[in-house]
Amino acid sequence: MPNEKDDHKIQAIPVLKDNIVWAWTIRDQAVIVDPAVSEPVKTWLEAKGLSLNSILQTHHHEDHIGGTENLIKHWPKASVIASKDDIKRIPFQTISVRHGRNFSLLGYPIEVLGVAGHTKAHLAYYLPRKKTGLGAPALFCGDTLFGGGCGRLFEGTPKDMFKAMQLLNSLPAETKIYCAHEYTEENLKWANSLYPKDKLIEKRLANVKKIRKDRLLTLPSTISEERRTNLFLRARTVEELANLRQNKDNWKA
Ligand code: ZN
Ligand code: FE
Repeated sequence: MPNEKDDHKIQAIPVLKDNIVWAWTIRDQAVIVDPAVSEPVKTWLEAKGLSLNSILQTHHHEDHIGGTENLIKHWPKASVIASKDDIKRIPFQTISVRHGRNFSLLGYPIEVLGVAGHTKAHLAYYLPRKKTGLGAPALFCGDTLFGGGCGRLFEGTPKDMFKAMQLLNSLPAETKIYCAHEYTEENLKWANSLYPKDKLIEKRLANVKKIRKDRLLTLPSTISEERRTNLFLRARTVEELANLRQNKDNWKA
């Protein structure tokens, strides 16, 4: 039976160039989010004596699902949770979900948020604090919200992404943001170039540069931090978000 004293942790497994695979662990069980590749994840789990309980998939891109097949070969009882609307593009699903279709892992509730934009059926997974015993609520948001940025619009419209930003903005300020890429420094350099007088962005950029110099991660961030310094989350209209996205897509450091 789950209880508040369970030792919850969320830890990063950095892989490839800038992907972060997140591991939510309780006792000897691990929930892995978006395993881009299998080997580093398997090695990490085995070194810690953890067993793979399940895999959460936010969307179908290879750098998010690439390791799943090998991991479930090794841990055949592990469940794979992904979008029902992407059942063809995300194989091995054992629990297929949509926005609002909540479920539980290891006895703890997870809320499913539909955040289309980067892809048509992109999902985010929200862990409320009260029920999980984590220090703060946690959000696994894949390639939707990044530190200082948002995902590119490969399949969705600016309106989709605006809606996704509004939804994520409605989460509690202390919610920790566990996104799938370490892009914070680049995003803030862009934001700073666009709004050089914005002190909040400037301050965060300076801080992030220091963290990256030591090759540490800038994540998780928080909703309140993103509210202050993420131009996409700050955008007040669809048009504003569309312009920002286009500007960022054409920007070179
Ligand atoms: Zn992606
Ligand atoms: Fe990605």
